[in-house]
Amino acid sequence: MRFDLSTPRSLTAGIALTLAVLAGVELLPARTLDLKGPGIARGPYLMTVADPDNQTSLRWLDAAKQRRLRCHYTRLETYMGCGLTYVLSGNDPSQGRDLSHFDSIEVDLSYKGPSPFVRLAVRNFDPRFSKPDDINSARFHSVNLRLRDIGTPVRVDLNELTVPDWWIHQFDLAREYNRPGLQNAVSVAIDVIMVQPGQVHELEVRRMVLKGQWVSRDQVYLGIVVAWLLAASVMALRGWTRLRQRYNRQAREIDALTARTRQLRIEQEKLRRLATIDELTGVLNRRGLEQSLDDLEAAAQGMTLVLLDIDHFKRINDRHGHDRGDEVLRRIAAVVAANLRASDVFGRWGGEEFLIACQGKRIRDAARVAEKLRERVQQSNIDGPDGRIAVTASFGVALAPPGGSTADALKRADAALYRAKEAGRNRVETDKTQQSDSPTTV
Ligand code: GH3
Ligand code: MG
Ligand code: MG
Repeated sequence: MRFDLSTPRSLTAGIALTLAVLAGVELLPARTLDLKGPGIARGPYLMTVADPDNQTSLRWLDAAKQRRLRCHYTRLETYMGCGLTYVLSGNDPSQGRDLSHFDSIEVDLSYKGPSPFVRLAVRNFDPRFSKPDDINSARFHSVNLRLRDIGTPVRVDLNELTVPDWWIHQFDLAREYNRPGLQNAVSVAIDVIMVQPGQVHELEVRRMVLKGQWVSRDQVYLGIVVAWLLAASVMALRGWTRLRQRYNRQAREIDALTARTRQLRIEQEKLRRLATIDELTGVLNRRGLEQSLDDLEAAAQGMTLVLLDIDHFKRINDRHGHDRGDEVLRRIAAVVAANLRASDVFGRWGGEEFLIACQGKRIRDAARVAEKLRERVQQSNIDGPDGRIAVTASFGVALAPPGGSTADALKRADAALYRAKEAGRNRVETDKTQQSDSPTTV
């Protein structure tokens, strides 16, 4: 299963896992270290200088079990220890046990004697200042237990252990070295202090067990918080990556679409142009002409129309071949185009017929243009297989007055053209029905 908090299943699993960990921490058995357990500590040893004569001053009452001891110093000695010690270090006195994971020590003991306290003491060897040949240089921590507190088994928090002034004064150490710390404890002791000659002290230590947790709760809680934060971060990162990928993909698609649209527009424009251009001659075709005439008609400025029809073109085709006929059409189109103004509209109306639309309302001007074109066509040099091909054309001119019908004007131009043909070809005929040629405007 992919760990994705956004799915209800993963979220439920995450919460369940968290609760399981929290419950597990609570249910986990305590970590214990029984100082009397096998292989845990050496001892207990009686606190005595190894002097066999002294055995009577400090001795076990139960030599086999070594739980009960009795102190009775008859005279003042240089060292009047009364207690027992568990040694946590092995052969190497600088190598102790890390007790920092333990929270408390359970002590079950009893005492009979004049002392108001029994002392619990732990020494910690710190290689920064402790010396292996001087056990006293291992930092001393102790707590005094009142007799009324030890009537029943007592649990002593390890935080209660402090470093006494006498030890601090003995070594001139930096402050941080005097701070309690049990990372390398080398001994744990129970003893009675300020023992006087003549006094009798009896001490029985039945149980000394350190208690702690396998994992610190703070660490577990921190771990849970970190795990959730990590999961949330991973999710946020994944979401962000997904968004970015989607954004990039869409950007690419948009780019591709834009390019395609641009390409299509170019092609459309090409097609549009092609659709209005006559393939053979390169001038406007009938559709192109009609569009331009519509535009001119819409402008309602008035125009003159000149229809041009090549004379006996069929004969040219018959004599010189269709290809040559095509060539003639191309040349005539070129000749006419070369002799028009930029504002004139010119195209192939169909077959060997061309149409010129001139802006302006004077039919005489149009007739003059037609006449000029007639001459140019006649003069055009078109080579055939058997020498020059003679080409002439007939012209019909008509006026479409402002607001008038272009279709009607076309009919009249056609009629004039017909008359030109009838009258012998190679000539210009003007429509006479529409006499608006009077010089109303210049
Ligand atoms: P008229 O003087 O009365 O106009 O006689 P004409 O022969 O020019 O007229 P007609 O209408 O009898 O013949 C027109 C010819 O034009 C017929 C057709 O084969 C030819 N034609 C039409 N379009 C083309 C073309 O694109 N190329 C060629 N080579 N000939 C064409
Ligand atoms: Mg014709
Ligand atoms: Mg003709």
